[in-house]
Amino acid sequence: MTNEELWQTVLAQIQLSISQANFATWFKNTEIHSNKDGKVTILVPNSFVKEWLENKYNKTIFKILHNLDKNIKEVEYTVGKSRLKIFKKESQEILETDQLGFQELQVDKKTNLNPRYTFDSFVVGPFNELPHAAAVAVAKNPGVVYNPLFIYGGVGLGKTHLLQAIGNEIAKNIKKKKIIYVSSEKFTSEVVSAIRNQKTEPFKEKYRTIDVLIIDDVQFLAGKEKTQEEFFHVFNILYEKNKQIIISSDRPPKAIQSLAERLRSRFEGGMIADISAPDFETRMAILKTKAQEKNVEFSEEVFQYIANIIKKNIRELEGALNRLIIYQKLNNQKPNIETVKVLFKNLLTGPAKIVTPKKIIQVVADFYDLKEKDLLTSSRKKEIVRPRQIAMYLLREELKNSFPFIGRKFNGKDHTTAIHSYKKISKEIERNKKLEEEINLIKEQVFTC
Ligand code: ADP
Ligand code: MG
Repeated sequence: MTNEELWQTVLAQIQLSISQANFATWFKNTEIHSNKDGKVTILVPNSFVKEWLENKYNKTIFKILHNLDKNIKEVEYTVGKSRLKIFKKESQEILETDQLGFQELQVDKKTNLNPRYTFDSFVVGPFNELPHAAAVAVAKNPGVVYNPLFIYGGVGLGKTHLLQAIGNEIAKNIKKKKIIYVSSEKFTSEVVSAIRNQKTEPFKEKYRTIDVLIIDDVQFLAGKEKTQEEFFHVFNILYEKNKQIIISSDRPPKAIQSLAERLRSRFEGGMIADISAPDFETRMAILKTKAQEKNVEFSEEVFQYIANIIKKNIRELEGALNRLIIYQKLNNQKPNIETVKVLFKNLLTGPAKIVTPKKIIQVVADFYDLKEKDLLTSSRKKEIVRPRQIAMYLLREELKNSFPFIGRKFNGKDHTTAIHSYKKISKEIERNKKLEEEINLIKEQVFTC
């Protein structure tokens, strides 16, 4: 077995024992770096993942590896970039370069654009026809037709893809245009560090001189006044010079809370287009297109089954396809419809994903490897107290539940406990980057799984 095959086998087994969300969170972009003298070194994308794998999953990983190869006596983790991504070979080796679909082609250092997002690879259907048409028009004539172009829609529906496709198309056609793609989080951290290091001039200079500014997930600017102010300046300068501005968000401008009125009205001054959920035919078309890109084929029946159970998220459609590919690779045969039903049975848990207190409690428990009832009892063990506080925090923050309600949920605790938890976590998030990251991952799972 090659290292890649070994790791794919481990992943396939782990995937069966943990939730899909946790699997995606902790195992994307991992691979075996080396395997010698009984020691396997696993490459992970960042120190955060390293710590989690060491603390939470090491035993499982070791057990599976050891079962596969008795010579393996030790596992360690190291942070680094995956080598495999760079050497893209035959389609046969899809999984090595595009492990589980978290492909990471080289992103252009100047523009931050990922070359994989193009109009060519973007499937158009009734649900995204308007934003697509607007995007194409903007790419043809930047700064002229729709300015700004504001695209909004739910998670995994193609906003980033579309935004970057515009950038890539312009970059291809007009070489001298200066294009920058930036996420709102990145923009925010640039503002913060410019201020902290008293380097606001270079920051301003950088943004003043571009021709096309693409800013993704602008809802994250909510409540960040200083960043909004800087963005407003940049926006005005570019806008007045007829430079193209392209924005995405998960909701329309008027639904972004604590967004300065003047920014909101700027956003509303251009073209606003929304991407809704794809219809069945488009979901089929997307699956087939992606399968073709990856040089694989599955039966019509299998595609229909997948398109029927995954309705609201194109990223999940891709994920499902990747699972089929992994199955095929590990078993040397295509999954039949019965197998597919087993593979995806955990996706069949009812329709709408409405976020409820129960859902949040479930995700938090799962995330920290606890039982739901542990969170709900009054245990004072450290490893339970903290997740419980986080769950309370999220009920307040995301669902606006009242403190007495939250207290009651958690085994009839007093509302002051809920207030204390909420305040404690809110405060800590501000200075503890790691906690913030943890909570963001939990939120992602709450809202997408
Ligand atoms: P968002 O930014 O809205 O969360 P993304 O743009 O990241 O979503 O899309 C999620 C995944 O689905 C990406 O891999 C993207 O390439 C793919 N995707 C989204 N929309 C389409 C589409 N219309 N055609 C093909 N692939 C798509
Ligand atoms: Mg996105």
